[in-house]
Amino acid sequence: MARKCVYCGRDVNDDRSMEICDICGEKVLGRKMFGAIKTQTDEARDKGDLCSTNMAPDFLSEKLKI
Ligand SMILES: [Zn+2]
Repeated sequence: MARKCVYCGRDVNDDRSMEICDICGEKVLGRKMFGAIKTQTDEARDKGDLCSTNMAPDFLSEKLKI
């Protein structure tokens, strides 16, 4: 099942734990920050800490006050 970016609706890679595409992620967070969060969430998912992939956008929205 293809997932969509929460900002622009573009398809997001299935191997990503966040539902945010590279373009929006870098625009909203900045390249460095987005890269760091991407790494963190992917690592957490790989370890099994991230129960739901839906948690990532909520976490970001709260952080960014969107
Ligand atoms: Zn997007």
